Amino acid sequence: MTAGRYAPSPSGRMHLGNLLCCLLAWLSAKSKGGQVLLRIEDLDAARCPRRYAEAIVDDLAWLGLAADGPQPPVYQSERAAVYQQFYDRLAAKGLVYPCFCSRSQLHAASAPHRSDGQVVYPGTCRGLTPEEIAEKARRKAPAWRVRVPDEEIAFTDGHLGPYAENLARDCGDFYLRRADGVFAYQLAVVVDDALMGVTEVVRGADLLSSTPRQLWLYRELGLQAPQFYHLPLLLDHEGRRLSKRDGDQSLENLRARYTPQEIVGRLAFACGLQDAPRPAAPQDLVGAFDWARVPRHDIFLPEHLF
Ligand code: GLU
Repeated sequence: MTAGRYAPSPSGRMHLGNLLCCLLAWLSAKSKGGQVLLRIEDLDAARCPRRYAEAIVDDLAWLGLAADGPQPPVYQSERAAVYQQFYDRLAAKGLVYPCFCSRSQLHAASAPHRSDGQVVYPGTCRGLTPEEIAEKARRKAPAWRVRVPDEEIAFTDGHLGPYAENLARDCGDFYLRRADGVFAYQLAVVVDDALMGVTEVVRGADLLSSTPRQLWLYRELGLQAPQFYHLPLLLDHEGRRLSKRDGDQSLENLRARYTPQEIVGRLAFACGLQDAPRPAAPQDLVGAFDWARVPRHDIFLPEHLF
């Protein structure tokens, strides 16, 4: 059976961009007779207070998009022991090494930048000897990176089509664990989606370039990868990305001004699922849902829609 998921990072109230992602994840799964699971991505627990996670659960229910389980949801902040097991498997293959580079060293490096603006790690700490590691570790706790192959990882996105990256050239060795012990998103998301039995991942196109890294981790860890669907970014009418800082478009404010059906209907109109912004419950949109109706390019929110 199809299992989709919501994987919000509760560092604030949801905004329209998060909501569009949840709506499409729900429609994609439900149109196949499937379910949607909820995982709270609060790896960085200090930045993700519980009250925001609780507000997300409440907002989803209010909108008619409640998850089907598990109850309570999976909280990443409680799963360090699980991530550790999979991290250890990579370490046992000799793929993990300590990195002592500071943020400023990384930015000063003449490494190329990926499409998402991140620096391609030039491998500075890749070949340190045990003596060098011991010496550096006396002064600084290292972060931990995984050694990626010089290999192209290709896949076909369910919405955006073929995409490929050469991990060594386009990405470089990436973090598995921060110096303070917090596991990295890239590892946690793979472990959790696999262990939760997720068969399809719907998320923003800003994560498209993370997907080859994740597919490679699935392979290295012997886990079954889901189908990916990346959706275009939602921009305001001037082309600015909707972020959690745009308080007027947070769910808190939207709930004060609109009914759930008005919000869902207008969003469905903005992303091509309705020909007019008329009120609609998510259930009303399931029958006609088709990824082919959703644009592949950025979606501009009409000026007076919300
Ligand atoms: N937690 C991420 C976010 O809220 C989503 C990660 C994912 O869908 O893989 O942007």
